Amino acid sequence: MSLADTVFAGHHNNSRKPDVPDGPPLRSALCVNKEGASMANSWNIPSWLEKEVRARDKNCVYCGTAFTTAKISKKTCASWEHIINDAKIITRENIALCCCSCNASKGQKKLSEWLLSKYCVDRQVTRESVAPIIQQALACGL
Ligand SMILES: [Zn+2]
Repeated sequence: MSLADTVFAGHHNNSRKPDVPDGPPLRSALCVNKEGASMANSWNIPSWLEKEVRARDKNCVYCGTAFTTAKISKKTCASWEHIINDAKIITRENIALCCCSCNASKGQKKLSEWLLSKYCVDRQVTRESVAPIIQQALACGL
């Protein structure tokens, strides 16, 4: 065994690189959509219901305004609404998203009474214009 054999041993298999595709690594699989997680949910609404309601109520269920983030406008940011004013009733029929403006105006009022208020009259929020989920609640005498 010569000295040369020892020195070059192990150098024979690095002539080819493994096939690694060029370009950026795929990130999409790791990119978890955390959108909405920032809006605190202080009502113990389970996440599956929260998702369902968010998918249904893209606009205010009362005035129909498109939601914005609180940074753009506090009035048009989404807020959780309990149609029957009881935070214990956590069902898809009782949880809705409305804008902060409507939520603040409605407060503790009865739905049918609130619709007669100046706020609703000014904004033409009526029994006919509200979202189906609200019409349903009105039909039940709320
Ligand atoms: Zn509204």
